[in-house]
Amino acid sequence: MLVFRDTSALQNHLNNLKSNKKTIGFVPTMGALHNGHHSFVNKSVLQNDFTVVSIFINPTQFNNIDDLKTYPSDIDKDLELLKSISDKIIVFNPDPNELYSGDIRLDQFNFNGLDKHMEGEFRGDHFVGVATVVSKFFSLINADYAYFGEKDFQQLRIIENLIKEKKFNIKLIRCETIRSEDGLALSSRNNKLNFSSKKIATNLFKALNFAKEKIDILSIDEIKQIISNNLSNYKEIKLEYFVIADEKNLKPIRDKKAEQCRAFIAAYVSGVRLIDNVKLY
Ligand code: AMP
Repeated sequence: MLVFRDTSALQNHLNNLKSNKKTIGFVPTMGALHNGHHSFVNKSVLQNDFTVVSIFINPTQFNNIDDLKTYPSDIDKDLELLKSISDKIIVFNPDPNELYSGDIRLDQFNFNGLDKHMEGEFRGDHFVGVATVVSKFFSLINADYAYFGEKDFQQLRIIENLIKEKKFNIKLIRCETIRSEDGLALSSRNNKLNFSSKKIATNLFKALNFAKEKIDILSIDEIKQIISNNLSNYKEIKLEYFVIADEKNLKPIRDKKAEQCRAFIAAYVSGVRLIDNVKLY
């Protein structure tokens, strides 16, 4: 398995593969890999001749410096895992100064309103940072397919919009959320939770499932109220938002007329910020 830290060496290698008509899949990650990442690295390996997995903790998408400093990282373990999956994986693990050419700053984007609610409300320029780094990766790697998780559904929609706006010649493949047996969505941030906090965190998934069960019976306001009351029983949970939104434009909905909608949740559990969502219709 090849590991590149240098941008031009990666580009030369990929140009070579492309001139031999090899297809390339791209899986962007921030490392501390778990079975969620594993599942769509596998998907890309099956669908493409080669798969580029980036491991890069992108400084421009963190609105909280402590979150950036304490973000879980274990590059040796990640490389071991990727090596065990396939020898058709190419790892890109650049230094921030290398990727940003010594100029770590944000670009400008038109997200067509997709950034207005939920994460956009609570995390400042987070999506501008994500779009900045993803644009750099797309231009550099020039892959055929990119794999993004529904776990970060708002991010996924913003990248779909970015591909259209900037006319990137790449197809985004949506990957379903992988969960532990008790329903907790896998996340690198779960590494920061102890056993009992992980158990308590399953209440976020339970809240989403409650919404799914009751969407045809209760009003959206009633669902929100019950969820907020229920979660307030746990002193470890600080709910940031629970929103039911249209899947396409991500606008919150108040009645049940939207054809495709999802329930979204963000909360701090024992000081660790977690997000999750499920499809309702
Ligand atoms: P991250 O390393 O957390 O930035 O995530 C990299 C990619 O993995 C993103 O496209 C995420 O949406 C996706 N991802 C993270 N956790 C999961 C999960 N539990 N199931 C599916 N995809 C995930």
